[in-house]
Amino acid sequence: MSALDELPWHALDTDAVVARLATDPQQGLDAAEIGALRTRFGPNELPAARQRPIWAVFLNQFRSPLIYLLFAAAAVALVLRETKDAAVIFAVVVLNAVIGAYQEGRAEHAMAALRRLSSQKARVVRGGREEILDARELVPGDVLLLAAGDAVTADARLIDGAALRIAEAALTGESLPVNKSPSAIAADAALADRTSMVYTGTHVTAGRARALVVATGSATEIGHIASLAEGGGTRKTPLERRVETFGRTLMVVAVVIFALFVAVGLAASLPLTEIVMVGISQVVGLIPEGLPVAMTVALAVGVQRMARRRAIVRRLSAVETLGSTTVICSDKTGTLTRNEMTATALWVARTGEIAITGSGYAPEGQLMLGDAEVAIEAAPDVRRLVEAATLCNDAQVLGPDDRDPHWRTADDPTEAALVTLAIKAGIAPAALRDAEPRRAEIPFDAAIKMMATQHDTAASGSRVVLKGAAEAILALCANVHVGEDTILLDEPGRNAVHAGLEAMASRALRVLAVAEVSDAEIDGRAGIEAFRGRATLLGLIGQIDPPRPEAAAAVATCRTASIRPVMVTGDHKITGLAVARMLGIVRDGDVVVDGVELDAMTDEALSSQIDRISVFARVHPAQKLRIVEAYQRRGEVVAMTGDGVNDAPALVRADVGVAMGITGTDVAKQAAKIVITDDNFGSIVAAVEEGRVVYRNIKKAVLLLMSTSFAEILVLLLAVMLGYPPPFAAVQILWNNLVTEGLITVNLIMDPPEGDEMQQPPIATREPLITRTMWKRIALLTPAIVVATLGWFIVRLATGVPFAVARTETFMLLAVCEWFNVLNCLSDRHSA
Ligand code: ADP
Ligand code: MG
Repeated sequence: MSALDELPWHALDTDAVVARLATDPQQGLDAAEIGALRTRFGPNELPAARQRPIWAVFLNQFRSPLIYLLFAAAAVALVLRETKDAAVIFAVVVLNAVIGAYQEGRAEHAMAALRRLSSQKARVVRGGREEILDARELVPGDVLLLAAGDAVTADARLIDGAALRIAEAALTGESLPVNKSPSAIAADAALADRTSMVYTGTHVTAGRARALVVATGSATEIGHIASLAEGGGTRKTPLERRVETFGRTLMVVAVVIFALFVAVGLAASLPLTEIVMVGISQVVGLIPEGLPVAMTVALAVGVQRMARRRAIVRRLSAVETLGSTTVICSDKTGTLTRNEMTATALWVARTGEIAITGSGYAPEGQLMLGDAEVAIEAAPDVRRLVEAATLCNDAQVLGPDDRDPHWRTADDPTEAALVTLAIKAGIAPAALRDAEPRRAEIPFDAAIKMMATQHDTAASGSRVVLKGAAEAILALCANVHVGEDTILLDEPGRNAVHAGLEAMASRALRVLAVAEVSDAEIDGRAGIEAFRGRATLLGLIGQIDPPRPEAAAAVATCRTASIRPVMVTGDHKITGLAVARMLGIVRDGDVVVDGVELDAMTDEALSSQIDRISVFARVHPAQKLRIVEAYQRRGEVVAMTGDGVNDAPALVRADVGVAMGITGTDVAKQAAKIVITDDNFGSIVAAVEEGRVVYRNIKKAVLLLMSTSFAEILVLLLAVMLGYPPPFAAVQILWNNLVTEGLITVNLIMDPPEGDEMQQPPIATREPLITRTMWKRIALLTPAIVVATLGWFIVRLATGVPFAVARTETFMLLAVCEWFNVLNCLSDRHSA
């Protein structure tokens, strides 16, 4: 089994592949084999872009105009034989670099740890059991399970699959998804034509498959393309850019002040050495050297805090954008609700609605019509409906065992609820699925809102069962099943179905319709369309998905924080509205718009009405993009959630794309800026709060740094203008700005939330780094420091204290002023 990667896997037939890999396509590898293969092939990862070594981070600290300036100052000092000054400047610069490197190293460390948290997962069969593991753990021979939305994390040979489509753009440049199937193909096929293979770096857009891993890590096709290392994650955030522009302006101001000072100094006939040194120290004084490091640390601290509140940041820019978010568009199912479905009602044409008792996935409950139990033996139409819902279904419910004392499911809750219903009705799902084996399927797709399966029937021939969103299914139906008869679905018949549907939806139930097509087969090419006008409606099933208890509170927080919560759901308008009401998302005067109405609206109409829309119902993922853009045209900063492959464009376009950690596909996660690990709306709101805290803390640091900078400059300028010697030596200012402030700002940056972050409006995106309020506070703080320090200096000199002593005292006083200033900067609302 040597040189695994050189075999033409695509050309071998599946039996040969299985034999060569010495694996079992049903049971997978066992622990001993895995251990051996793992040692032999190593972890399944590309030699990653390595973390910068600490010395590189250290050297990087010297790459700033300011440091060049300081070195120039040191050189000037040397030329002027001020060796002591030169040495101090040099020491301070190095110390500054050490502090900077330490902080940055810490920030990088934190980010690396988070990247590991959001690493890729793979679903495999090992030792006869299905499990989800870190993609790093994959070895050749592993049985890989793929479904729509999964990233392919190793090169693998298909052995089994249904309607599998793969997007291979990353590997082959082909922009359209490619159809894949297990049949062997010619050995000389080019990479893009190897339809029996799937490759690392691509992802599944539709269908499902079982495949055997043939190559991992750098042996994969993408590993051969060595340069394809992960795109650099160090792009500057808007805030960082804002700070940079600000810094550049300051540089210019500094040069002007320098010139001014030289002029004033010459006029006051100070010695040239003194003028140059003090001039340089003013430049140093003006520029807030600590700011870039403070920002990096602030963002990193924010990232860590968010992680603690279940929001994993994938792009640093999300941290600050979150603080400016004005609209949160959220999915309903799973994000606002618990995604724990229970079927509580069903509807058949003959009887109308039948209630189902019980809660959760435990199959304890009955079918009730009024006070009487409905026996399935006496209701063949109910049996047919429930059986069809069990066949067109991939879920299983698990009973209490030694691992968990509750009934539960690891599968799609929508489907699991139907299995529970079947057991309550007295139908054994496993036996039924054996009796009518599945021969083909069209997997569920949010774009068509339904799925279809084809079964051999007990009697003869095959039938297709359809299950999905009620209107979508209804649109395919020509007939309806009534009792034991099939009759034409006429206008009154349709009205009756709609009445049944609306009665359930208005109670916040999620309604599925089930239909069948007898004597039919699934044709991969025609898909669902082949059944239009041929299907027979069997009935409706309503499921309750209780709202998350914490969601209503999070919606209320959004209100006080002037953030607009909006529900974007694939579910029915009435269901969406009912849930939105329970949570407080809908308020008087708000409207609900569904996908059809949305398509009918022009962009202008949408933009003008969007302020009143609080629920978008029956939208397909492609429409989410339009919704995001409509908000953005109105200047809103939009957070949008998503989980499916088709959600990716909207997630990328949104200011903050939010992927769901549990139900989200890999594709959605890669498109998103943050991933919410518990799929909870409340965690998005928490992340917004942390974003605001980060921004607020950065502003505190800016305020502190700027008010002291201005004070230093003013003291120097005033003193010299009044004919005094400079109250601070250049090296003192250096020490203060690089060392004292560096340590103090870190405390401001780490400041915990003040608690009222979510009682204020979002941070305006155009807000300058120093706002009007901040200027006012600077105007107040700066003179206080100036009067105190300069006053002390003058008074001490007047009382005959030697110059050196007065200077040192003044410097000490400056540091003390700064301590108090920190207290001032701690909050712009409360007094320390
Ligand atoms: P949401 O989960 O917000 O309702 P989706 O886009 O996931 O939105 O689903 C759209 C609709 O498709 C659902 O409202 C439901 O009617 C239907 N649906 C969801 N899951 C399934 C499934 N497994 N099989 C059939 N239909 C489904
Ligand atoms: Mg869904």
